[in-house]
Amino acid sequence: MTLLDGTPATTRSLEALTVGPIATNAYLVGDPTTRDAVLIDPGAEAERLLGRLRAGDWNLREIWLTHAHFDHIGAVDDVVEALGDVPVRLHVDDRDMYGAAKEIAWAFSGIAVAQPRTPTLDIAHGDELHAGSIGAAVRHVPGHAPGHVVFVLHGARAVMAGDTLFRGGIGRTDFPNGDHDLLIAGIRRELLSLASDTVVWPGHGPATTIAREVLENGFLQG
Ligand SMILES: [Zn+2]
Ligand SMILES: [Zn+2]
Repeated sequence: MTLLDGTPATTRSLEALTVGPIATNAYLVGDPTTRDAVLIDPGAEAERLLGRLRAGDWNLREIWLTHAHFDHIGAVDDVVEALGDVPVRLHVDDRDMYGAAKEIAWAFSGIAVAQPRTPTLDIAHGDELHAGSIGAAVRHVPGHAPGHVVFVLHGARAVMAGDTLFRGGIGRTDFPNGDHDLLIAGIRRELLSLASDTVVWPGHGPATTIAREVLENGFLQG
């Protein structure tokens, strides 16, 4: 991944797996020393995700969700069922959407998915997560979804941005609870304030950097 050239040495292994009907990026973040790992947004294709965990000899400590749209949560049940007691963390303001994921997927995307049953543990802005040796700060960036958060990884100049900021784009806000201005304000406050060489790993499409988006993202100019 050429985007990583020139960024500081990372102590985390980071693997993107693009899954499901709308090409969602699930991320496997691992500590190569301890083999602890966290799965972020396991949206679909549980068998493939489990295969990567096995192949890397990773010990999955937790699942973290940026938000509760169906394409980011679809493999949660199957992964948890396969591996046993894995905590799943989600912002409290997306709990209702998580509970209605099947309905919402059908109503807004015409896609049939199973309703997730695994309970989630609440997270909130400012939380510091520690899953084995994998850590991250939680920042709330609502607008695309009410409880959307981003995870600023410890030990790496990287942020797992979900559907907030994309290379050259931002998350959709044409949902009943979407809010364009809120999303832009959140991106400016919580993402553009990160070091400019921070790599942004989005929920769809290729990675980018804060610097690149500040310069080139048409939604953030002016
Ligand atoms: Zn989304
Ligand atoms: Zn998405």
